[in-house]
Amino acid sequence: MQILLIEDNPGDARLTQEILREAGRDYKVKTVERIGDGLDYLASQAVDVVLLDINLPDSHGLETFTSFKARYPYQPVVIMTGSHDEALGMKAVQLGAQDYLVKGQVDSGLLRRAITYAIERNKADQALRESEEKYRMIVTTANEGIWLVDAGRRTTFVNDKMAAMLGYTAEEMMRNSWRDFVTKEGQTASDTIIDKRKKRTDTGSRSYDMELLRKDGTRLWVTINSTQLYDSAGNYTGSVSMLTDITERRKAEQIQEEFIGMVSHELRTPLTVIIGALDVATSHGVTQEQSRELINDAVTSAELMANLVNNLLELSRHQSNRLNIQVKVTQIKAVIEAVVDKLQHYSAIHSFTVDVPPDIPAVVVDPLRVERIIYNLVENAIKYSPKGGDVRIACHEQDSTLVVGVSDQGIGISPEDQAMLFQSFERLNIQKKHEIAGIGLGLRVCQILVEAHHGRIWVESAPGKGSTFYFTLPVNRAAKISG
Ligand code: ADP
Repeated sequence: MQILLIEDNPGDARLTQEILREAGRDYKVKTVERIGDGLDYLASQAVDVVLLDINLPDSHGLETFTSFKARYPYQPVVIMTGSHDEALGMKAVQLGAQDYLVKGQVDSGLLRRAITYAIERNKADQALRESEEKYRMIVTTANEGIWLVDAGRRTTFVNDKMAAMLGYTAEEMMRNSWRDFVTKEGQTASDTIIDKRKKRTDTGSRSYDMELLRKDGTRLWVTINSTQLYDSAGNYTGSVSMLTDITERRKAEQIQEEFIGMVSHELRTPLTVIIGALDVATSHGVTQEQSRELINDAVTSAELMANLVNNLLELSRHQSNRLNIQVKVTQIKAVIEAVVDKLQHYSAIHSFTVDVPPDIPAVVVDPLRVERIIYNLVENAIKYSPKGGDVRIACHEQDSTLVVGVSDQGIGISPEDQAMLFQSFERLNIQKKHEIAGIGLGLRVCQILVEAHHGRIWVESAPGKGSTFYFTLPVNRAAKISG
């Protein structure tokens, strides 16, 4: 066993070495006279215990121990004091020394016990430190907020995550009442819960959702899992709570609810038209001409419904990474004409112009997907030009891509609104003002399908001046050469 004896008095040093020898164990003793030398020695040599005289030529009193402890906080130390400064030995123990001995009152048995005890106590301290470190790590790295309050519901501890969730520092939250961070509605709800629990009717933990207030005044939805604490006499002493931020989840739930409402409404409207039209078409006294018109109306409405369902399916395929594009060499003009053919019955007040130069190259695309893109854009062009006008679908070749443009003479889109256009379920205020039906999915699906073809989609528009949506598709050169 390695022992470092830091002792400047040669007589005391000799006596201690003598007692150590008598102690009969295999103690290897290194003696130095100054604290500086002791610190240097430890830098290169590990020892089991340090026997430290606290009055040395280069350091006096408690300072000797504190400076030692600052350099080697986990080294077991037994303080050696004179009989006149025994109190200092006690203080050093309070500051973390393992033990102290009074010189002149030490025999071999006592010294051996002190050394063994110092080593064992240090091991126990070490185990405690490791366990504390483990719990501290759990608390600081937890993805949940952890919040402790006392019986007066004042904050006694929060982890950094909790403070960050509310936009404070942990210090700012300390000693402040829990109520300062809770909305009025939340206060009443949690008061009821806490009051009931103060009676210690049940000691399990309890989970509930609540809205908290951030420092900047915004609100935060959390799930709280809280356990009440009681002392041995059964008195309520506070609680420990784990909080999970569920703002995003609540938002998603809200969007989902709105979405279901919107889709149901959008499906019901054309369905009502279909049922009504077919009902009248099949009743007595309707001429063949009227019946054909009614059936046409039903077909147009059924197509709008089918397109809505198709858009939903495309979004769902995209979200689950199952969007398989089936490309083949395609003549864009035929695709555009198919769309116009389907949609021109939809409006009597719009005219349609298809402008495709005769030498336009073929494209390698999924024709059904490109049809869907153009269908969505033409449907929008009709919807968002409620006073009618020309809907023009044109294309030209530019930098080895085909650029397709769908223009209308409708309400147009402001530059701020243009930035939000391609987000799912985003509908602009202007369209709400005009009371035009829709669920804000068409453009998002256009973007998904254009990007699946490695193309780009964008808009040029100004309020009141109409809009043109452009997208690009890859050109098949070989197809052009071969005609
Ligand atoms: P929906 O038409 O179902 O609302 P879209 O994704 O097709 O969904 O369009 C998103 C929003 O973009 C629309 O709500 C509308 O405000 C705006 N928008 C789309 N196309 C046009 C257009 N041609 N002219 C003016 N605004 C448009």
